Amino acid sequence: MIEVAENVYHIPLFPRNMVNAYIVDGFLVDAGVRSSERKLLQAIDQFGRHKIQGHVLTHAHPDHQGASAAICQALNISLWCGTNDADAMESGLFADVDVNNLIIRFQKRYWVGPPYPVQRRLQEGDRVGEFEVLDVPGHAPGHIALWRERDGVLIAGDVINNASLATTLTGVREPPAGFTTDVALNRASIKKLARLCPTIVCVGHGPVLHDADQLTALANQLPD
Ligand SMILES: [Zn+2]
Repeated sequence: MIEVAENVYHIPLFPRNMVNAYIVDGFLVDAGVRSSERKLLQAIDQFGRHKIQGHVLTHAHPDHQGASAAICQALNISLWCGTNDADAMESGLFADVDVNNLIIRFQKRYWVGPPYPVQRRLQEGDRVGEFEVLDVPGHAPGHIALWRERDGVLIAGDVINNASLATTLTGVREPPAGFTTDVALNRASIKKLARLCPTIVCVGHGPVLHDADQLTALANQLPD
């Protein structure tokens, strides 16, 4: 676990930063897959359990909410996520999805965490510590980002990926269309984040970005 910006700690959960969580102003942001519980608790203990104030999801996909219920129960903290992802988190993911899809079947079997009550449904302008909540739907209907304007730190979740999950090659790209609810809407969210000109971008998949150049380049090449 390393501090990538003031009060922002990066917790790589898979090799080569393929799946990440963060501690942001004392809030655990994302929780990997179901089996990530042990690594998360190790990092949390290193940070100091008593300093964790709550758990926030950028979005309620199985590679982000897998250990959410376990961590919230272990620490007795509440779970917050974007308004439009809260029902999915509470009802159980894939409850209404066609499980004939092989990858979804794999995720359902090995990654997805149990449903858990969402204590607070976040929307644009809400605060998580010093960070402002931004609505950035598209990859998931209730996807949110966290933004600290004073030093340009952005927690972007899966609005962009900084690695290919298939090849592990690093580089900013759109998240896979097959896992994105609304590709056009996510492109609008990429442009919204690029306009902020962040200095540090923490992503769900891939290394932390230390400038916005690749984000800007991607935004500029996307159709309107
Ligand atoms: Zn993801």
